[in-house]
Amino acid sequence: MTMLKEGRPTAPIPVEDAHMAPATVTGNRALMLEEKLIFEIGSNDTTGVDFAVVPEVASRLGTLARTDAIGLPGLSEQETVRHYTRLSRQNYAIDLGLFPLGSCTMKHNPRLNEKVARMPGFADVHPLQPQSTVQGALGVINELAVWLIQLTGMHGVAMTPKAGAHGELCGLLCIRAALEARGDARQVVLVPESAHGTNPATAAFCGYKVEDIPATPDGRVDLEALKARLGPDVAAVMITNPNTCGLFERDMKVISDAVHAVGAFVYCDGANFNAIVGRVRPGDLGVDAMHINLHKTFSTPHGGGGPGSGPVVLSEALSPFGPLPYTARMADGTIHLIEEENVGEEMPQSFGRMSAFHGQMGMFTRALAYILSHGADGLRQVAEDAVLNANYILRSLEDVLDAPFGGSGPCMHEALFSDKGFADGFTTLDIAKGLIDEGFHPMTMYFPLVVHGAMLVEPTETESKAALDQFILALRSLAQRAKAGDDALKGAPYHAPRRRLDETLAARKPVLTWSEPEMAQAAE
Ligand SMILES: *Cc1c(COP(=O)(O)O)cnc(C)c1O
Repeated sequence: MTMLKEGRPTAPIPVEDAHMAPATVTGNRALMLEEKLIFEIGSNDTTGVDFAVVPEVASRLGTLARTDAIGLPGLSEQETVRHYTRLSRQNYAIDLGLFPLGSCTMKHNPRLNEKVARMPGFADVHPLQPQSTVQGALGVINELAVWLIQLTGMHGVAMTPKAGAHGELCGLLCIRAALEARGDARQVVLVPESAHGTNPATAAFCGYKVEDIPATPDGRVDLEALKARLGPDVAAVMITNPNTCGLFERDMKVISDAVHAVGAFVYCDGANFNAIVGRVRPGDLGVDAMHINLHKTFSTPHGGGGPGSGPVVLSEALSPFGPLPYTARMADGTIHLIEEENVGEEMPQSFGRMSAFHGQMGMFTRALAYILSHGADGLRQVAEDAVLNANYILRSLEDVLDAPFGGSGPCMHEALFSDKGFADGFTTLDIAKGLIDEGFHPMTMYFPLVVHGAMLVEPTETESKAALDQFILALRSLAQRAKAGDDALKGAPYHAPRRRLDETLAARKPVLTWSEPEMAQAAE
């Protein structure tokens, strides 16, 4: 073993006698502690809190009164804290390492944003407070709206949608309202094959018939096929740009012109806006509506189901149909929330509301803090660095992994690989499980569907070259093992708290509530 002059080894020390290690009696493995379910640690008949004895009172609940035990485990404060801390250590987080999930844009979340979002003037306000007492919070919404309109070159913005998918719904509802206003009942929404699943789902939810548009061999929308399908029955085309193959749709303006020529609208899925922010304005490309995932492009911790925020920028043609409420700066400098009762002449055609109040205040403050701390030039660099990092990964790995569109020039913010060339029986799943052993969250797998065994890697702009190099080292070694048919890879992960789970069984027969017999059955 070679040593640095500081006395540290130059490379990881392989544990040659690891197979000799006896199983521990506790199930713990050094600092990795085995943890049971909270129901198994606590018990129904204990409590961690001392309550005064409740005096006997006549129940007024009648037949609604609970007759059996409530079934909550009782634990002391320390037991509770340890339980959740132990579980949290089995999790992976952006604060631990690179999170290469393509399409998800898992980037570092600056602590500054968190500090700002927790300021009492933002964190402790109530949505029903008189507007004169929350001018600062309304000012944040209004200023963020101005930035989003500027950055996208659009005419208006709906701030209330609470996620990307919710934004898609908002955009299509605007399109439907605009079509209905001119008495035009169109039935069809066109969606490219490579689209995120939320696109066709949203269109179907709005009652449209969804039709696929094929992709060209270089991973982009087939312009001729699209043009051939356009007609008076098409309400909208939903296009992701940059698309989910990590490629810029170069024909976007031609597409928009063709779509507008038949009286339809262009919906752009803007989840990948981080790749073009500060460089391209979707408004210049003829987009009519586009959601921006604030929690992707403009940071905010996300994943695990929330929180998110999906403002929708709108063209001049669609803005009058956008949702309420929205903010407006008055002549005297105050900011008003325009609601149904004070909408006046301005937006009589609004399709209604997307959410009860103003949207996700915490995400607004984080996004504005991110935007202001980067500035216009810094945001441009976000896009440039995100693209540079992805291309570094693409070019560093294309000799060992098949890059289906690598030949058609640089990618945008994500690098896409396929499973072509793996030994018989080796799959993308094996690579993903191997990455867990190497200390990385797996990349996005089997999406987009247009690529066999897809591996979609998005490093984001916030990773250093050193971090990228370590990830590349891991992925390169796994790719080589899959190509060589190294059977040991089929058993990975070896070092994780749990090994390969039966994901199909878990999806088909999820055990969501705890009861002893059920757990016993599942274990059989
Ligand atoms: C993330 C994503 C969405 C959905 O956004 P949510 O905020 O998760 O609802 C839609 N399209 C693409 C391309 C995405 O990456």
